[in-house]
Order: sequence, then structure tokens, then C-alpha cells
Amino acid sequence: MTDKPEDVPDRPLRRGWTTGACATAATRAAYAALLTGEFPDPVTIRLPGGQAPAFALAWEARGPDIYAAGVVKDAGDDPDVTHGALVIATVSRGAPGSGVTFRAGEGVGTVTKEGLPIPPGEPAINPVPRRMMSEAVAELAAAHGDAGDVVIEVSIPGGAGIALKTWNPRLGIVGGLSILGTTGIVVPFSCSAWIHSIHRGIDVARANGIGHVAGSTGSTSEQAVQRLHGLSDLALLDMGDFAGGMLKYLRRHPVPRLTIAGGFGKLSKMAQGFLDLHSGRSQVDFNWLADRMAELGASPDEIDRTRHSNTANQVLTRAIAAGLPLADLVAARARAVALDTLGGCGTDVEVLVFDRRGGLEGRAGFAVPGKVLILGGTTEAAELACSIDGMSVVTSLAGRTRAPAVLPGEVRIGGFGGAEGLAAYLRDNAVTAVIDATHPFAATISRHAEEACRQAGVPRLALVRPEWVAGPGDRWIGVDDMEAAAAAVPGGARAFLTVGRQELGPFASRADAWFLARVIDPQEPPSPNIALVTGRGPFDLDAERALLADHGITVVVSKNSGGGASQPKLAAARELGIPVIMVRRPAPPAGPCAGTVDEALEWLHRTLRSGRSTWTCSGS
Ligand code: NAP
Repeated sequence: MTDKPEDVPDRPLRRGWTTGACATAATRAAYAALLTGEFPDPVTIRLPGGQAPAFALAWEARGPDIYAAGVVKDAGDDPDVTHGALVIATVSRGAPGSGVTFRAGEGVGTVTKEGLPIPPGEPAINPVPRRMMSEAVAELAAAHGDAGDVVIEVSIPGGAGIALKTWNPRLGIVGGLSILGTTGIVVPFSCSAWIHSIHRGIDVARANGIGHVAGSTGSTSEQAVQRLHGLSDLALLDMGDFAGGMLKYLRRHPVPRLTIAGGFGKLSKMAQGFLDLHSGRSQVDFNWLADRMAELGASPDEIDRTRHSNTANQVLTRAIAAGLPLADLVAARARAVALDTLGGCGTDVEVLVFDRRGGLEGRAGFAVPGKVLILGGTTEAAELACSIDGMSVVTSLAGRTRAPAVLPGEVRIGGFGGAEGLAAYLRDNAVTAVIDATHPFAATISRHAEEACRQAGVPRLALVRPEWVAGPGDRWIGVDDMEAAAAAVPGGARAFLTVGRQELGPFASRADAWFLARVIDPQEPPSPNIALVTGRGPFDLDAERALLADHGITVVVSKNSGGGASQPKLAAARELGIPVIMVRRPAPPAGPCAGTVDEALEWLHRTLRSGRSTWTCSGS
């Protein structure tokens, strides 16, 4: 597993051995010792290309019927995080007829996601190293008349920590490193290991139904794009300098949406037509940038200064000062190059130019702005559906009320079947953004939305209206849940319940009190001590005051829903000196959130359209 390439040294580069080759050498030594009692040292193996390198053993151990040998990995001049790691194979007898069984020992990962050459649940030992180890066992077994039924456990002490510096966590390989290599040989700075990882990232994203992936030139732009779009780790392709390696693979293995994110210099090179953005292999052309400045109407002096600039960032800083959208133009040109390379495979592309601190400087948006799913059931959700234009909108309702408000756009009704069902809906319907505008007490659907959007790689915003806060004259009693609310109602009270029809259960057993419950649809009262009144917000203060007085209400029970529609009951209670038992909210959903419909619209605009704004979200 290769760490990020930096600069290539001038001298000839030394080749090294893959973890797969080291594990094979260790296996051969340990199995030979199991058969003969002696560890061959050095131990020679055969690589798929026919070479036969010898490895010195760095470690050996024996027990009854179990032998272990270790080889230190020499990665040559490759910038490899596993260089110097001890690769150990522990070989023991397997059940008769079981053949070779592989196990992941300490520091070797286990596959948990679809899309890799090894299925989930298996040790992260790739097919070629498995074959090399199996062949080494078969050859020795034949020579010694053994059945060759063995268990090979591969371990790399400290591998779990090293693995955090590799792509493994992102590819869903947990607990350690992978045993890799198709030739056994590490070709230094070949770039192929890096490009392979990009390809595996695309495979994993596709296998997990991720509809929107992002390739970034570095970690700042990667973090910025992840924050902007709320993408899951599985959606992040470590593109680095290899725009071509990523785009050419996507052409054959398309994903619906791709964001390319990077700094101005690298993306200028891409806009010029380069697909390898490494500083040693492509250069920013200041004449080209000067021509772009001219295209934007820069003064002759600015154009000349651009031509004689030292760095791309200098050019950008001056363009910004002159009010010229150079970064947008570069993004647009880079997007055209990307689309051209993708060859009409159906992947829509967005290009984002970030500064060194992750601020958005330029953008060329997707051709199709997208489809928004609003998880509704609230006034804000309805208002939002009425306010979005220029993109398709679907509002989803749980189906709790018989005659929901009429909304523009598509309306779907009923549950999705949990987080998995919602993730499948997002994929099947090519949803590009989700706004969870459900009620603050609808915690289950919000949790499902969070999980489903993570799984499907769809950006999500929670629209959570601010909660009510007690003011002068309010007599609130705060409780955590409905059981506590029912317990807090004084004996003999006449309580007004505004908690929803599904929450009446705990009050039915309080036979020592009388309740008036407000519900949206007419229904049978759940118990003799609960009378029902129907009503749908917004409510007004005069009517609320009259309702409390007419029914001789002595206490109000409410959820802390927030919002204006049902607030008048609280004002009426305050005026009449009636206490309010206020049920506190569950924890808000994690991730980006907005408090108003306008903020949610701005987020949507920023996420899906080509415009820019300064909107930031607390908790994002
Ligand atoms: P919940 O406990 O969070 O969700 C229960 C289940 O209902 C969810 O797992 C989901 O079923 C389904 N569901 C909820 N909201 C949905 C939506 N917008 N579209 C499709 N399916 C949805 O929700 P709740 O507290 O019962 O509230 C239900 C709905 O009423 C919400 O949409 C909410 O906005 C609205 N509402 C709730 C309250 C309240 O006090 N809780 C007040 C006013 C309005 P699956 O798992 O099958 O997908």
C-alpha cells in the first residue's frame, strides 16, 4: 500500500517486495519447518513472473504442530508505509481435505464491503498472494508426501496503526493492512499502486450504490468537498495528481455524479488539458492564464503581469482583486476536459476550486441541478416544497394524517422500510440531496435519514426549527419523555394535551385526572378520562385562550416543538397563569442543520447549483 508520492529522487530507484511476496516467503519457511523441523534461511520463492528471490528470515517460532516465520518487508525506494514491517506467517495443520485456509492475524485487515476482489468477511489477502502461498504449500506438500491441509495466519505486528495511513479504512478494510501485489515486486514511484487504489475506490463506491463520488487533488480540498456535499468516506476517491487514472476508469465504470476538487494551480493544468497534475510532469502555462484573463476582459497591464507571474496563486489573487471570475472559468475549462475524457459515459461532472484553507474560489456545476427529497410532515417542509424552483422536488410523508396539505412537486406517502429502504429509494430515484424537515420529535426517521444518506453518498441537511424558550411569566415544568409528563400531571387536574394522538397512552392510565387532547383527525377517545378536540395549526391566541378557559384547564402538556403555529397556547397559558409541562426534545440529528427555510434554501443552492455563497452550517 503506497503512501502519497512526493518528489522523485534523481538516482536510479531500487525495487522492493510486496507484502504478498513477503507473506509467501514466510509461509514457505514456516510450512517447511512444520514438515521437517528446520526453517530454511534464506528461503526462496517463485514469483508470478518467474523470478526466484531469496528472503532472509527475521523471526521464527515453533510450538507443537505450529510453526511461524517472519520476513521484514523491504519496499525498495517506494514511499511505502509498510516498509520495514515484519510480515509473519503462522502455519498449522488444517482439517483433512480442507486445503489451504487463510486467516487474518494481528495487523492484517478484514474486508467488510462489497466491490473488492475478496468478499466481505474474508481476510484482506488478495487473490494473487493467496495463489502464491497456496502454490508454495502445494510444492512442498508434493515433495514431502503431505496432504497440504494447512491454516495460514498472516500477521503484521503494528499493522492496525499503519493501516490508518492507507486507503484501507476508506475501502472498508478494518483492523489492519492488506496482503497485496500481483507481481511480488514493488516498482518504485510507478504510480500504479496509487492508480490501483483509485480504481478500487471506484469499485467499492459502485458496489455500495454511491451515486456521487469526489476526486480531490489533496486533503484540504477533499475535506472541503466532503463538508460541502456531506459525502461519506466511501465516496472519496484519492485522486491526487492522477485525474486521468480516475477519469479513464470512470469512463468504463461510471458513477452518476463526480465532483473534482482541487487547488487553482492543479486545476489550471487540468483546464489546459493535462490529466497528470504532478509538478514533475505538467506545468502551469502563464500564457494560457493570460489568455483567460484577456477572455474575461482584464486590462492589458493585468494580462501582461499574468504572463510574467511566478505562481498560479499570484494570478488568482490578482484576478479576485480585479473582480474577475478566473477560478470559475478555470473550473469550467477543467470540467470540459473531464467530460471529454469521460467520453459521454453518463457521469455528470462538477469542478470546485478551493484555496489553501478550503474556501471555495471557483465552481463549474453539474449539468443537471438535481432532485431533492424533503422528509416532511411539518409546516417548514411544506413551505420549503413551495419555495424550491428549478429542480425536481419530492416530499415524503409518513401517512399519519388523512388529508395532508396539497404540495407542489411529487408527494409520496408511507415509510421506506428503515434506513436500508430509504438508501435504496435514494439510489433508485437518483436523489441528489435530502432535506430532513421532519418534526424535532420524529427522531427515528431522522436517524434513518442520516444513515441512508451516508450509505448512498447523498448530501443531507436537517431543518430543525429553534425550540421554545420560557420567558417571564411562564410556569414551565421540564420533563424528558411522555411517561414523565403523565407522572407530572397533578391528581384532580384538568389537563390540555397537545402531544399528538400517538402519545396519549401514558395519560390514559391517569384515571385521577381529566384530559382534553387535541388531534388532527377525528377518532375514538382511547379511554373515558380523555376527551378529544380536533384542530390543525396555525392556531390563534384568542381561540386558545377561550379553549383553556371554557374547559377549565389547569395544566397544559406540550412537546417543545418550537415554531409559530402552535405557540399561541403557551401565550394563553402564560396569561391565565396556567403551568405547562414541557417535554424536552430528543437530541438533534448529527451533521449540517439549518434553523429556517431560507437557510435550507441557501444550503440547497450551494450544494446543487453552480452559485456560491458564504453560508456555513453549525455542526457541519
Ligand atoms: P418517527 O418516529 O421518527 O418515524 C417512525 C417511522 O415512520 C419511520 O421509521 C418511517 O418509517 C416513517 N416516517 C416518519 N416520517 C416519515 C416521512 N416524512 N416520510 C416517510 N416515512 C416516514 O416519526 P413520528 O414521530 O411518528 O412522525 C411521523 C411523521 O409525522 C414525521 O414525518 C413527522 O415530521 C410528522 N410529525 C411528527 C410529530 C411528532 O411529534 N413526532 C409532530 C408533527 C408532525 P420507515 O422506517 O418504514 O421508513
